[in-house]
This record gives sequence, C-alpha cells and structure tokens, in this order.
Amino acid sequence: MPFREMGPPDGMNEREYIRFLIENKCYFCGSKNRVTRIYWERKVRSCIKCFKDNTVLEGIDNRVKLILQRPFLQNGSLSNRFWRDQVEAKYAELCSIDIKDQNEWIYEQYQLSNDLQREIAERRREDVLSRENQRSQRIQGISDKLDLMCEEKDENGSEKYQRYLLERCPNGKFYDKN
Ligand SMILES: [Zn+2]
Repeated sequence: MPFREMGPPDGMNEREYIRFLIENKCYFCGSKNRVTRIYWERKVRSCIKCFKDNTVLEGIDNRVKLILQRPFLQNGSLSNRFWRDQVEAKYAELCSIDIKDQNEWIYEQYQLSNDLQREIAERRREDVLSRENQRSQRIQGISDKLDLMCEEKDENGSEKYQRYLLERCPNGKFYDKN
C-alpha cells in the first residue's frame, strides 16, 4: 500500500492490517456509516461515540496512567482519557505482582510504553502521508477528467468546454487545485 512501509502491528496479520486501513468500520458498534478514526494504542478504528463509551477520564491509578498510552484527538493533541479495558487489565496485572517487585515491573512497563509511543508516532506519520496521497490522487483524477472534457469538440470543431469554466462549475466545487 502506498505510504505504508510499516508492517502490521502485533496481533494483526497482513490481510487484517490492510482491511483495517481501508475499511471504515467501528470496531465496537460495527457501524460503517459513521466517521471512524484509528487509535493505534488500542489497535482499533472507532467512531466518536464508542470512543467516549469505551474510555475513562477519572479514577485511574497513577501508576497505570504512567504505563499506558493516551489516545490522540482529531487535532493531534493527546486525550486525557484512557481505554477502559486497558486500564482494568493493567491494574489487575499490577495488583497480581508482589509489592516488592512492583516498582521494577512498573519500570519495565514504562520502557515498553515508550517503545510503543515511538511506534505510534511512526504509524501516525504514515496515516497523514497516506491521507495526503489519497487526496492528491483524487484531485489528479478530477483534473484528468477535465483535461479529457476540454479535448472534446462540438460539430463546428470548437472546444465544447472551457477549462476555466469547468473549474468554476458549482458541481465541481470539490475541485480545488490548492
Ligand atoms: Zn462505534
């Protein structure tokens, strides 16, 4: 896939990965009609509603906060929310560890979380590149069609369409060279 140099994340095979990238389907509610976003730290696509339903804002153990990745919001800033199931799983794991070993465990988890953070940053960079690529391909496709239309001649041998008029056509308002 263009602009996708990274392989699938852990737990996803190549086929699942490609599907995940191209299919606009919310992991939680299964809807294909809602706008979804990829949340790499949870390896899901989710609609906004399900994102809110499945994340928590308060009552999270500070040690757990330290070792989990926060989701990114639309504007690229980090959310204050965490995925509920990740919080619960990490907290249960922490509680199962002998108190004297907990600090070491937290340190290890913190290192892993940093690695994951770097991976997520790379994946997000690929998301942006591939989105820009899709957009420029769409614009190129429209531009190619306009070129073809401009080559059409009427019975008098004159051009049927003027390109500058086509570009201003209200139906082509999505056509924006910039
Ligand atoms: Zn949903």
